[in-house]
Amino acid sequence: MTRLWNAPTAFADEMIDGFVAANSRCVRRVDGGVVRSTASPVGEVAVVVGGGSGHYPAFGGLVGPGLAHGAAMGNLFASPSTAQVHATARAADNGGGVLLCYGNYAGDVLNFTAAQERLRAEGVPVATVTVTDDISSAPADERDRRRGIAGDLTVFRAAAAAAERGDDLDGVVRVARLANERTRSFGVAFTGCTLPGAATPLFTVPEGRMAVGLGIHGEPGIDETDIPTADELADLLVARLLDPAERPLDVDGLAGARVVPILNGLGSLKYEEMFVVYRRVAERLTAHGLEIVDPHVGEYCTSFDMAGLSLTLYWLDDELAELWEHPVDAPAYRRGSVLHAPARIADAAPAAPADAPVAPGDADSRDLAAVVARGVAEIATVIDAHVDELGRLDAVAGDGDHGIGMQRGAHAAREAARRTSAAGAGARTTLTAAADAWADRAGGTSGALWGLMLRSIAAELGDRGRPNAAAVARGVADAVRAVTAAGGAAIGDKTLVDALVPLADTLTTAVAEGLPLDEAGRRAAVAAARAAEGTAELLPRRGRARTHGDHSLGTPDPGAVSLALIAEALASLPSREGHPS
Ligand code: ADP
Ligand code: MG
Repeated sequence: MTRLWNAPTAFADEMIDGFVAANSRCVRRVDGGVVRSTASPVGEVAVVVGGGSGHYPAFGGLVGPGLAHGAAMGNLFASPSTAQVHATARAADNGGGVLLCYGNYAGDVLNFTAAQERLRAEGVPVATVTVTDDISSAPADERDRRRGIAGDLTVFRAAAAAAERGDDLDGVVRVARLANERTRSFGVAFTGCTLPGAATPLFTVPEGRMAVGLGIHGEPGIDETDIPTADELADLLVARLLDPAERPLDVDGLAGARVVPILNGLGSLKYEEMFVVYRRVAERLTAHGLEIVDPHVGEYCTSFDMAGLSLTLYWLDDELAELWEHPVDAPAYRRGSVLHAPARIADAAPAAPADAPVAPGDADSRDLAAVVARGVAEIATVIDAHVDELGRLDAVAGDGDHGIGMQRGAHAAREAARRTSAAGAGARTTLTAAADAWADRAGGTSGALWGLMLRSIAAELGDRGRPNAAAVARGVADAVRAVTAAGGAAIGDKTLVDALVPLADTLTTAVAEGLPLDEAGRRAAVAAARAAEGTAELLPRRGRARTHGDHSLGTPDPGAVSLALIAEALASLPSREGHPS
């Protein structure tokens, strides 16, 4: 339970402000998160990490000499937005290129990848390595689908040490991949976690029971058992991680292999309990003939106030062993001794972004822009009315943030559309501003996807004249292509694509038959609603819900449901407004 907050929606920002105020020796605040406050050599590769907030010390607490150069910090449990990742990477860049390194979650992948494209377009060399240490999240032969948990630490450290010894971007990528290949984790939880202001935990574990194979966003475990003794738990963790299928490829015998064990508390487990568990972990590893190097027992990646722990094994080879000796001085993590680095002279603070002057639309398009602004306001209203329900749907197999994420995005979009339209912009400029504001403020998977969808539709509306119904239908069809290209989901994967495709198809067909947009829109909204309901029977194959597939049988996909709600709210808009037809 979280007891202290002001406005729950301000929690993440206020947390970051306080964290920076307390750690200015190591970090300074930038638009999207934090970067080192100390200088790094010109030309050194910058290791930029990040993810949602709520995992302290991941990710801001891991920024400093010897560790990350910057961390993009999203809202609680929500991926940072593309704009946040981009701004953090720009601020962290030392002129040697940027490695983006983060846990493998759909929302993070979408937003970091989009930021990578933006940076490359600006001429910054960028590469990505995602962390995939959680063995419970996919089988061994699908390692690239696994998510990242406490193993972030080993991969970040290896990458940063390589960067600081002078490796170029390719070299840092090689080391980060090697470290990820040799890092495996497995965890359990005894309670769920409760976000500030939330009435209920994201999930619960019955008293006396233990969720096995936890996620770090309150995703429920993949299995459940009675809580064992400390020794039995240690045995379970060690057995899972020493399973032959889970040992890194080139470690054949166990005898003599070097491992760094990391016993990671998830937020409200006592250190004393962890030490009792670690005692047995060390015994078991030693009994297998392993050489234990630099054991870690503590909190490295938490899940808010979840009670639980994970064990990570980091299998060293000679190179990784040497890099592990590299000293670190970050707010929440110190190793060895770091020579005092001078403060970085912060680049002159960029002027607060004045509203860029908008290219004015013609009279017809300005009229339509006002309709667009009212349409976006309508979206915010319907999301407000369903915010709790969407959160509940997402909590069944995801992380419970779909309602608040959509709300943040829709509210920011409403404000941007209002401002842009009032400044005399046409429909395309207005809806594009709304799309960018949505993606930037919502974060998460759905935030990035809604930004893409609205941008696609905006492109067809233009800033001159009144587009016809066919143009709107084309925009929605383009949105399908944009979403599937970015997220890789197909029909039947139990995502919002399942509602979006019938919406687009029905709209296209109805408009081609000559129906006016309002009637075509209503038909399309009905098709989307039916398809959204139908997702209840599907098993998720994409997004973070994938790991907990069968939990969600019988429950529709939250992203599909919100899309259908929005379609329904918008369907009657053109007739009321008389545009476009
Ligand atoms: P997050 O998963 O980052 O917490 P949200 O909870 O806001 O983001 O949104 C979850 C929704 O996003 C899912 O219900 C699903 O509809 C959609 N989604 C997730 N991954 C994908 C994907 N790869 N393609 C399309 N939609 C996706
Ligand atoms: Mg979610």
